[in-house]
Amino acid sequence: MMYYVGIDLGGTNIKAGVVDGQGKILSETFCKTQAQRPYPDIVRDMAACVTQVIKNAKLTIKDIASVGIGIPGYADQKTGVVFCTNLDWHNVPLRDELMKYIDLPMAIDNDATVAGYAESIAGVSKDASSSVFLTLGTGVGSGIVINGRPWSGFHGIGSEVGHMTLALDGVSCTCGNNGCLERYTSATAIIRMARQACMTYADSAMMLRAEGDPNRINAKTVIDAAKAGDRAATEVFDEYCKYLAIIINNIIAFLDPEMIVLGGGVSHAGEFLLEKVRNKIPRYLLYKNMPYSEIRLASLGNEAGTIGAAMIGKLAAEDRRK
Ligand SMILES: [Zn+2]
Repeated sequence: MMYYVGIDLGGTNIKAGVVDGQGKILSETFCKTQAQRPYPDIVRDMAACVTQVIKNAKLTIKDIASVGIGIPGYADQKTGVVFCTNLDWHNVPLRDELMKYIDLPMAIDNDATVAGYAESIAGVSKDASSSVFLTLGTGVGSGIVINGRPWSGFHGIGSEVGHMTLALDGVSCTCGNNGCLERYTSATAIIRMARQACMTYADSAMMLRAEGDPNRINAKTVIDAAKAGDRAATEVFDEYCKYLAIIINNIIAFLDPEMIVLGGGVSHAGEFLLEKVRNKIPRYLLYKNMPYSEIRLASLGNEAGTIGAAMIGKLAAEDRRK
């Protein structure tokens, strides 16, 4: 039996895992990214993690069919050159650099794309023929799977739902544009809206939970206060869920996937989030009497990155054999 190594490259940690053909993790390891270092040092540590994790699984390199990498950015599939803004990587030849240590078929893709692919192999969208995965974190990432294959676009720059324009001349985004969808549907957006609300509702439970300091409000503060029935927090979270329902409607109108999966930090609100969002979707739908995408919560959590990375490597190795 062959196994697949997945690497989840993040701004804080490098995680690696050995994964079987069904998307089950056999062994895992991680080290600190220390993102300020020159990239060859980081890639050397990625290679060390791979060696370690294979050893942890009591396997050898001969048992491994491929290596896949999920990155916080964009990868050119043909050249293996990557761009990761938050690592300050521009034009980094990641595949060639890692090949200096490991000679295996390699695949690289965006971290949200691989996480969405992981959910479609071993998670909640396992039986769905098409799905769109949204990570609701500091920003909003997305992963599209169509007929069992991840889709990140013809040039690899697609599946960036977070930077679709939601509001003309809206809130300024880290990308340089205004009104990007992630400015309204990320955890960062909840925090911004909550701080604003606290200027009107100074006695909100959110302020109590943040010990009177609006800068200490995080998404969980808002969700917990809303769950407890606080008026300002409920208004903020309802507004947030409205934005989410609008983008879900956009996705349905554009792609009509079988399933839309919500992951990332905000999705930890669980059924509380799901119920509010599901209730708000019908009002925006074009075909109000037709069935539409099932909305579910992601099920793999933090492991999605490693599993998905391994699985895109598997796909690349299989494509190569064809
Ligand atoms: Zn943007």
